[in-house]
Amino acid sequence: MGNLRTRGVWCGAGFLGRSRADVRERVSRLVDLGFNLILPNLKDGLGRACWRSEVIPEASHEAYQDFDLPLVLMEECERVGMRVHAWFIDFFEGENGAAFRTHPEWAMRDPHGRTTADETLRGKRFGCVWMCPAQRPGYADQWLIPLYQEFAKRYPVEAVHHDYVRYPGDLAPDQYCFCDSCLEEIPRWAVYASETYRNERFEHELYDRPYLEAHWEPSPRVLPEGWQKWSRAERARFLLEGGFFAGGRRDLDYFFYTFRVEAILRFVRECAEAVRSVASTMKISGAFFKNPIHSGRFIGQDWRRFPPHVDICAPMDYRDHFPGTFEQYLALLRETIGLQKRWAAGFEQLWIGFAINFLFKEEPNGPYPDSKVRDVVRTIEESQPDGIVVFCAEQIEEYGMGEALRRSFRDSS
Ligand SMILES: [Zn+2]
Repeated sequence: MGNLRTRGVWCGAGFLGRSRADVRERVSRLVDLGFNLILPNLKDGLGRACWRSEVIPEASHEAYQDFDLPLVLMEECERVGMRVHAWFIDFFEGENGAAFRTHPEWAMRDPHGRTTADETLRGKRFGCVWMCPAQRPGYADQWLIPLYQEFAKRYPVEAVHHDYVRYPGDLAPDQYCFCDSCLEEIPRWAVYASETYRNERFEHELYDRPYLEAHWEPSPRVLPEGWQKWSRAERARFLLEGGFFAGGRRDLDYFFYTFRVEAILRFVRECAEAVRSVASTMKISGAFFKNPIHSGRFIGQDWRRFPPHVDICAPMDYRDHFPGTFEQYLALLRETIGLQKRWAAGFEQLWIGFAINFLFKEEPNGPYPDSKVRDVVRTIEESQPDGIVVFCAEQIEEYGMGEALRRSFRDSS
């Protein structure tokens, strides 16, 4: 089918129902629309694993104790040639989820020691927690990676799929993470003081160069006097707003953001090693923000550096991630896919994700013009990526876009 060899669709576990007959019917509906890949959400935003986990039984979703959804889905998909990528929500967890309940110390903390649950977003208490990707031992290595590994070992699907593999973005992107572990680890990682001479300032002998910052290579002690007695908020402020040289440029944010990028990178690497150790041919895909240079700064997600730990890049080129009118969205989408092809050069494949609901900003109450869906699919196809992924099966039905997609996919063949 034209350029769009992969035509994928994200869906919630609930969309698939609770019986084999349900699953068969939902899968057949998606096949009929022209999809050849399904990405079911099997580790959800409340922190529940949609299978009966043996490594972390308390993470198991109660609805799937007696119904092996991943197994049934795999079997039903195989019958009709549908491929499966199991979609995991990585660092975003429910406040009442088992991970946070049993290990509150694994959550991200702001400079005041609060979790993201207490943030206010659009007038409402946020109520969900983000878990710290950097802490070891912590959520990444004690909880999330074991779940990935168990899933990969038990269910030989084509791929597992990362989502929320990052720091929070719509919530104060500069405020996390200052958990106890990160407060210790950032200065240690950045070598803000020597382990051997903890209190030696190691000032430059001469300061004979034209710029203060030109005297950086002897690695002077960066931590200020009294550091050990400083509160969490004071330390956080220094780590984000302080300077490598007292009185110099306030450049420590460079190290803070780099630490976050490396924490995410370490997780994708360790996750890939764990998955591939039990399923050597399994692929790993992921949904990422549209510009890895920007998302490296704001949410620690510089996905240009993910290969070879991630094989398939699926940027979420949703309309709400772009400014302007619908026409401007199409033009910016074309421009962005051109850039993404360069940024994603290290991946095996680039699939472009788009969301249904955000297309209808101008028609919040309908009717919903299906020409918008056809225009988006055509724009993506003309940019010649390796595939397309639609968010999501539920919205295709809610907005009545099934026929538009079927025709678009058929026309692209
Ligand atoms: Zn942390």
